[in-house]
Amino acid sequence: MNQNEIRKELRAKAMEASKHAYSPYSQAKVGSAILTDSGKIYFGCNIENGSYGATVCAERVAILTAVANGEKRVKVVYVYTEEGWPPCGMCRQVIREFADDDATIIIGDAKGAETVMTLEELYPLSFRPDHLGV
Ligand code: ZN
Repeated sequence: MNQNEIRKELRAKAMEASKHAYSPYSQAKVGSAILTDSGKIYFGCNIENGSYGATVCAERVAILTAVANGEKRVKVVYVYTEEGWPPCGMCRQVIREFADDDATIIIGDAKGAETVMTLEELYPLSFRPDHLGV
């Protein structure tokens, strides 16, 4: 798949995942799909919790699912919401753990607009695993 095909596939998976969002409190429907360095795609939706703090965002569900399947490096993260919301701070830190500066972040909305940037652009001066010598 070329970059355009990958982006379309990630968008389709993220949009599909957003339909499964469990969000009775915010009503927000967020979907995410990621491409790992092995070439596999994983996806997730936001899963809220009545205790709020136990809520997990779609990007983190996708990344943690990938890690649970033996993956360690993320190349592309696609985040879909109707409004085109960017990843929250906690998700940026989780992406940082498993992605390099040049990883591609794509933020898509329901109208088809997409903002494409690198992780370094999304999250500059981030705390990185190599700060701990890893
Ligand atoms: Zn988040």
